Amino acid sequence: MDNLQRRGRIPLERGSELRLFQGVLLRPLACLQVVLLLPLLISSGCQSQRPDTKSSRITQTQANEQPVTPVLPPLGTRTVPAGPLPLPEPVPTVPMPLVPALPVAPPTLEAVPPVPVPRASFPADSPLRPLPKQDRFSGDSWQSLNRWLATHQWPSAQFSVLAQNTRVNLKIPTGDWTLQLGSQRAFWNGMLIQLGFEPRAIVHDVLVHSLDVEKHLDPLAAAGAAAWTGPRIIVLDPGHGGAQPGSRSIIGNQLEKDLTLDWALRLRALLQAQGWEVHLTRTNDFYMSLAERVDFSEHSGAALFISLHLNSSFPNQEAQGIETYTTTPQGMNSHLTREYADDPTRPYPNNRYDEESFSLAVRIHRSLITRSGATDRGVRHARFMDVLRWQNRPALLVEGGFLSNPAEALKIASPAYRQKLAAAIAEALR
Ligand SMILES: [Zn+2]
Repeated sequence: MDNLQRRGRIPLERGSELRLFQGVLLRPLACLQVVLLLPLLISSGCQSQRPDTKSSRITQTQANEQPVTPVLPPLGTRTVPAGPLPLPEPVPTVPMPLVPALPVAPPTLEAVPPVPVPRASFPADSPLRPLPKQDRFSGDSWQSLNRWLATHQWPSAQFSVLAQNTRVNLKIPTGDWTLQLGSQRAFWNGMLIQLGFEPRAIVHDVLVHSLDVEKHLDPLAAAGAAAWTGPRIIVLDPGHGGAQPGSRSIIGNQLEKDLTLDWALRLRALLQAQGWEVHLTRTNDFYMSLAERVDFSEHSGAALFISLHLNSSFPNQEAQGIETYTTTPQGMNSHLTREYADDPTRPYPNNRYDEESFSLAVRIHRSLITRSGATDRGVRHARFMDVLRWQNRPALLVEGGFLSNPAEALKIASPAYRQKLAAAIAEALR
């Protein structure tokens, strides 16, 4: 073998047997050499060997003197074999990195399965959290409020009068909860939070649904509605645009799409002054699909997403106030469905961030209500909102007031009020 290798030639015999000198069977090694040397073979004219030659020859230079390092010619300059290479059989153990490097797969590599292409949205090595299992919340699970207090090592509460609609006040170190028996309306430091389930009374205790404990009580118990400490990269999404104008104000026929854009531009300036990298899904009047808005967030590397909208209940002119939405946690029913078939068992990518989205929504909603003096319509959940549920980051949607309510529409028509709405969100993200 030494002699032949020094002469630069190793005989390979076609068929299932690879015979080297003195009957030594080295087929696995030869297969590996074949793979490694394939580019050399191609460039050294091996491809000119006729496929029907009984005994083909593969050239190897100075195999014993020093390790052979195949040098790949630049992409696009390699010659492609005219016909099948006369190798013994398909090589089943081809190192995968070589496969995509070849501009055209040589015929002998055809047996190699295609290299799986990672999915653009959720690559396997992504730091994203796992989605909740679909059957995780199929059962009904309730927790004693006193047991919940005990897990946090807070003293238990005395519940005396426990009738329907009784309000239960709970002081914990990070704030005050007011729960209302038989109602999803709860209050955190006086601000309305729509729970997933109505708390129930039992003897000397209150039962809260485990999902409300996990998604609402626990996040606020840990740190209140704490300030954002993650990366300061945000996507602001002025609702609607182009041929989709959104709601129409009963004051001056102003359109939601123009008002939300103005609000977003004001907010962008304030956030940039606070050191945020701000990306707007649109900076003028054009239509963008909800899926495109989600893709835009993905490509912007946004850590946060906020969609800005204005409400309407036209022809009803009574409704007024601000409401803030996050994606409905799996297992809960939504507070708004707009005739969407609301499937509580189905998890969405944004459910990975339920707790952060909720805490942030509470913080921003409080700032909005406090600064604007608008009616508090609460922090709520909706599942139909495509622009939220596919987001891979904490995400929320603000409905900043009703354009169908004359008094509120008049306020929103004022640039000073829109500046106030922008300042409220900026302050919550300080
Ligand atoms: Zn809207």
